[in-house]
Amino acid sequence: MLEMHHIAKVYRTETVETAALRDFNLHVTPGEFVAVTGASGSGKSTFLGIAGLIEAPSGGRYVLDGVDVSQMNDRQRSRLRNQKIGFVFQAFNLIPDLNLRDNIEVPLGYRGLRAAERRELAQAALAKVGLAGRARHYPGQLSGGQQQRVAIARALAGNPPLLLADEPTGNLDTQMAAGVIDLLQELHAGGATIVMVTHDLHLAERAQRIVKVMDGQAAEVARDARLHSVS
Ligand code: ADP
Ligand code: ADP
Repeated sequence: MLEMHHIAKVYRTETVETAALRDFNLHVTPGEFVAVTGASGSGKSTFLGIAGLIEAPSGGRYVLDGVDVSQMNDRQRSRLRNQKIGFVFQAFNLIPDLNLRDNIEVPLGYRGLRAAERRELAQAALAKVGLAGRARHYPGQLSGGQQQRVAIARALAGNPPLLLADEPTGNLDTQMAAGVIDLLQELHAGGATIVMVTHDLHLAERAQRIVKVMDGQAAEVARDARLHSVS
C-alpha cells in the first residue's frame, strides 16, 4: 500500500540545510494499522507530508497503492491525494457553519461525485462512526471526541485506500482519546489501512505495529520492547 525506499528530504534556507529524512524506509501492507512515533523534530511531520502527497521527497522512491509518485509535480500529487488518502488531523478541521453531513461531503465534492451519491456516502460514513442520527447537527454541538469521529467519517467516506492520521487524539482528554483509538481499531478490523503519527507511546501501543522515527530514519519497534501490552 505504502512503500518508501531510501526517501530523503532536505529543507534549505539561505544559510542552513536540514536533512529532515535520510534513507527513510517504510513498507505498509494493505490492512495494516501502523503507528509512527518519535521525538519532536525527528521527522514525523515531514514523513506525513510526503506520505500524504503534500510534499515531494528530495530523493528516493515512494510507491502509493501501486503508483510511483516520486517524480510527480504538485498538481499530479494533489489530484492523486483526493483519490488515495483520507486525512485525520489533530484539530479536527471541521467547518463550523456546515452540518455534519455537509462537512463529510466536502472532499467528496472535490472528487466530482454527484449530490445523491455524496449524500449516500456521507450518511454511510456517519453510521460507521456511530453518529447516524446527527447528520443535521453542527460541529459545535458535539464533544471533541465526537467531532473527531466526524472527521474520521469525512476521511473514510470516499473509501480511500489509505487513512493517514496526524496526532488524532492530541486535542482530546484521555477518555475521548480512547474512544477515537477504539474506532481506529474497529476500522482496522474492518480492513482499513491506517498510518497514525503520534508522539504518545501509550496510543502507539494500540496499533498493530510501531515504527519509531529517529533523526530522519525509521526503525521498527520490537514487540517485547513495548511499554506493556494492551488487549
Ligand atoms: P509539528 O512539528 O508539525 O508541530 P509535532 O509532531 O512536533 O508537530 O508536534 C505536535 C504536537 O505534539 C505539538 O503540540 C508538540 O508540542 C507536541 N509534541 C511533539 N512531540 C512531543 C513530545 N515528545 N512530548 C510532548 N509533546 C510533544
Ligand atoms: P517532527 O514532526 O517529528 O517534530 P519535523 O518533520 O517537523 O519533525 O522536522 C524534522 C526536522 O526538519 C527538524 O529539524 C525541523 O526543524 C526541520 N524542518 C521541518 N520543516 C522544515 C521547514 N519547512 N524548513 C526547514 N526545516 C524544517
